[in-house]
Amino acid sequence: MPSRLVAGNWKMHGNRAANRALLDAVVAGIAGLNGVECAVCVPFPYLGEVAGQLANTRLALGAQNLSEHAHGAFTGEVSAPMLAEFGCRYVLVGHSERRQLYGETDAAVAAKFAAALGQGITPILCLGETLAEREAGKTEEVVGRQLEAVFRANDRKLFENAVVAYEPVWAIGTGRTATPQQVQEVHFFLRNRLQGTRLLYGGSVKKENAAALFALPDVDGGLIGGASLVAVDFLEIVKAAVRAAQEKG
Ligand code: PEP
Repeated sequence: MPSRLVAGNWKMHGNRAANRALLDAVVAGIAGLNGVECAVCVPFPYLGEVAGQLANTRLALGAQNLSEHAHGAFTGEVSAPMLAEFGCRYVLVGHSERRQLYGETDAAVAAKFAAALGQGITPILCLGETLAEREAGKTEEVVGRQLEAVFRANDRKLFENAVVAYEPVWAIGTGRTATPQQVQEVHFFLRNRLQGTRLLYGGSVKKENAAALFALPDVDGGLIGGASLVAVDFLEIVKAAVRAAQEKG
């Protein structure tokens, strides 16, 4: 399996001056930290400038969404070939905010997953249940359904080139992290279906809880929202991943 991964998701935050300062600090901070891959998923308008800033650094560039179409009359959309041209190595697919706020269906997510891989971009497929679904005991049913939709549309072998992020919707941006036991249960369920795929946890990961989450047997890294906007916090989370990688081997 490729090395562990810590990916930041800036969501719709940032500006050109702040991005530069944040990335300078992150790039300098990860220079000596080996054994964990690091990436940052930035808003579309910043891709070109950030690509330039990250050239020849250990911080990989990612986007937060893509179209399932390669080109055509799709106003406002951005395609996988466009992301590839900017050197994106990763793209988030099916983030819960996309599913909930923009009506992305399981089928659309599956098509986006294929579109990314078709351009050699690693999709970070986001899966997760709402609080109501968890409380109804439907976590595995929901996560399994979201995954099945992508299995149906894509050769299973392709998952070796993908990343899957378990992100319980109720833990994203809420400050409410899933307990290590809840995370491990879902990651174990996923690992049984995805042996060669890196499995990230996302949902209010912070420097204070990262070590406990990354120590879990089936967690290979994290998808970090709010804490990726603060260089010292993001770097502490990367350090926790490095320590977990050393301890788990
Ligand atoms: C996310 O945006 O994917 C996320 C996990 O956000 P946060 O870390 O802020 O909960």
